Amino acid sequence: MKMQHSDFIIVGSGLAGITLAHTLHQQGFSFKIISEPQMSRCSMVAAGVYNPVVFYRITKSYLADLVLPYAEQFYKSVETVLNKKLLSPLPLARVMASRNEQELWQKRREEGVGEYLGALLTEPMPSINLSISDGLGIVKNTGALDCASYIEASLDYFKTSYIQEKFDYQSIVFHETNIAYKNYQARQIIFCEGHQISENPFFKNVILKPVKGEILTLKFTEPLPDEVSNYILNKKCYLLPIGNNIYKVGATYNWRELNEWPTPDGLLELEKNIRDITSIPFTILEHRAGVRPAASDRRPILGIHQQKKQLAVFNGLGTKGVMLAPYFANALTGLLCHSTPIHKEVDVARFG
Ligand SMILES: Cc1cc2nc3c(=O)[nH]c(=O)nc-3n(C[C@H](O)[C@H](O)[C@H](O)COP(=O)(O)OP(=O)(O)OC[C@H]3O[C@@H](n4cnc5c(N)ncnc54)[C@H](O)[C@@H]3O)c2cc1C
Repeated sequence: MKMQHSDFIIVGSGLAGITLAHTLHQQGFSFKIISEPQMSRCSMVAAGVYNPVVFYRITKSYLADLVLPYAEQFYKSVETVLNKKLLSPLPLARVMASRNEQELWQKRREEGVGEYLGALLTEPMPSINLSISDGLGIVKNTGALDCASYIEASLDYFKTSYIQEKFDYQSIVFHETNIAYKNYQARQIIFCEGHQISENPFFKNVILKPVKGEILTLKFTEPLPDEVSNYILNKKCYLLPIGNNIYKVGATYNWRELNEWPTPDGLLELEKNIRDITSIPFTILEHRAGVRPAASDRRPILGIHQQKKQLAVFNGLGTKGVMLAPYFANALTGLLCHSTPIHKEVDVARFG
């Protein structure tokens, strides 16, 4: 069979692989995408929420000022290319867990996080079960990416470069300055396998701390009040309105059972969280699970293999794939194509 040449081979078609593909494409580089999407459904089940605030201490999420505007700009440009609406900006309303959180919120508004923190609403909301006396904090610059549509439409757009198969690590043939995989030849292979990186014999040193998440899509029997439907509501879980009384509700966190099967326990936990918000009945349309590829230091993982320079990696997007992927796909492209250094904090070299 005739050898097909491209600049890169990308393994994986989740948020990492697809975002990297668009970035390389925008900059004029060619690639093949080799992916067996059933191996990890993480990006396909994600709610796609982006939010620059970490609620634990009400701090900015990692490099939020850089990665968030970059991501918004990036997804808008992809919307134009794919001719598809993917991004839905929507304010997020955080139900304060306590009086302490309310005080911290007010304090942080005057500090560095202030640009993202809106007013604290303390009006009673009798129409829902929220104990709102502690307040509702509005976060600005939030919204959601329709991750499944982003990936499906992108794979269709790149269909002549897409090979649907499980990558066989034993089939790589290393040459001096490039690499061959079956009848494909490229300068480098970039591995974007999410939590399945554990199967990659070349990056055994990369140890993730993956976390399983479960998520529901459900339909309420009647419209929820505006206080809920006009926001991404956050109280123990996200309630993301997607229209027609349908919401995505997620997600759970489980570090022990690292598989993609939805469980009765996950269902119970999410149902309980919904009941804490509203008593309006609902029907569950979908219950899904995925495994987030999180690093223990909660930083993305990118860079070139220490010994085999023809291999690179893009992983560790954790719980914030939507926000992090575009900025770091660009950083990796800079490294691979222009030798632009990347920050030590995200460099795969930190794993030794
Ligand atoms: C329930 C849930 C809700 C979430 N909600 C959000 C959210 O609201 N906002 C947010 O930003 N993030 C969210 N996340 C996290 C987000 O989904 C991840 O950050 C992101 O999907 C990681 O993308 P990835 O491409 O690195 O990995 P993956 O999505 O796992 O993609 C890996 C790809 O590689 C393929 N693959 C792996 N090994 C091979 C192989 N050997 N051969 C061929 N193909 C292979 C897989 O099939 C897959 O296509 C959520 C995650 C879960 C589970």
